[in-house]
Amino acid sequence: MRFSIITAFPDFFHDFLQTSIVGRALKAGLFRVDVVDLRSFGKGAYRQIDDYAFGTGGMVLMPRPLEEALNFAGEGGNGKRPFVVYPSPQGVPLTQDIVESLFHQEHVALVCGHYEGVDERFAEQAVDVEVSVGDCVLTGGEIPAMAIVDAVSRLIPGVVGKSEAVTKDSFYGGMLDYPHYTRPASWNGREVPEVLLSGDAAQIEEWRRSRAVARTLSRRPDLLARCGLGGYLRGGFYLAAEGTLADVGRVREWADLCGSYGAVLLLFPASDSGDREKIREAIRMELESADDKKPSKVKSLPFFKLLPSFDHLLRWVGEKEKKKGRPLLVGVSDKKGHGEEAQEREAGGERDGARHWLDVKRFLLEERRPVVFCFRSRIGSEEEYGRNLERCDVRMIPPEGGRLPLSGEIAAVLDRFLGSR
Ligand code: SAM
Repeated sequence: MRFSIITAFPDFFHDFLQTSIVGRALKAGLFRVDVVDLRSFGKGAYRQIDDYAFGTGGMVLMPRPLEEALNFAGEGGNGKRPFVVYPSPQGVPLTQDIVESLFHQEHVALVCGHYEGVDERFAEQAVDVEVSVGDCVLTGGEIPAMAIVDAVSRLIPGVVGKSEAVTKDSFYGGMLDYPHYTRPASWNGREVPEVLLSGDAAQIEEWRRSRAVARTLSRRPDLLARCGLGGYLRGGFYLAAEGTLADVGRVREWADLCGSYGAVLLLFPASDSGDREKIREAIRMELESADDKKPSKVKSLPFFKLLPSFDHLLRWVGEKEKKKGRPLLVGVSDKKGHGEEAQEREAGGERDGARHWLDVKRFLLEERRPVVFCFRSRIGSEEEYGRNLERCDVRMIPPEGGRLPLSGEIAAVLDRFLGSR
């Protein structure tokens, strides 16, 4: 990976590029940074790079030297123009998402503004994204450029040592990091949490996860929408759906989908015993007809379990998770979007106590227990689903107001609850 920094003040970068982690990584050749002196592209004997703003006062960086410096920065590459970032207080706020997207670029050019900034026509012509490091105004883009190079370089393999794995840092999985302590164990009457001195790796890991969750909920609840719960709950994440013959063809697809998010799909056939047999048989045939023709894949398909009823399902999860606490049941409410009556109820503001998915996410993080999401199949018995809903700890407004097919609801729940960013 390569960065080119276009600046009128190259001295800013001298120490930055030679010190600590970035300095070591550059010396080891893990990435490359070229500092391009804007002044060498200046006009005339005085190497002029700025001029008065039209209208009123202030100085603005002229477009021609910027353009020439950028062309120079692009030379020597593979002919592809660099991805151009202009640090600017008017840009999109710098987040880990942006850092990760920059990491996927081969060559990033950072254009440091100064004074009133750069001529707008240069920004329009050459800049791919304007990035802000906060709602405040700095004297120049040099410090933001350093922040960007520093944050992106941490993602390059080998830059950060294994003991400081970047995947555990704040934002990477969506949550904030847990607190860190070092010696002495007691300082100014403040003690290091005992569990950290216990040497019990599992307990330490559990403590860290619980602190990461508590911090995120109290300091940055806005991150909640984009953090995955996987690994932060105690116990597994299960999706339960009442099976109908119409669903059978999609079981493998749903199970694979669940597998990619680390969830388990539990299907319990409709109450009618005739249907039950048909579903079982149809699933067996469906799975056997899959590419690898192994017999009776029903039992061996990972991330999928066919159970005779909702009660069996609860018992099965309860048994599997008995050391982790009683599983929390989340019902995907059917009081929205099913038939005219339900729509009227909703129009009247009646939502059956169902909560928004973000609210449910917060609740699950506060409880940190195994979770079972119960979906209503569109064909199964309404009465029976109603009874199952009664047993749920919390009810959720269905994704997109219940207008999605079951597969869409499953995908939405997996992404909103287990997907990160
Ligand atoms: N007139 C500009 C405005 O009010 O939006 C401010 C210009 S500022 C004094 C000069 C340069 O510093 C900008 O062109 C930009 O490159 C950089 N800069 C200042 N604040 C920044 C921030 N919060 N994030 C990123 N870059 C910033």
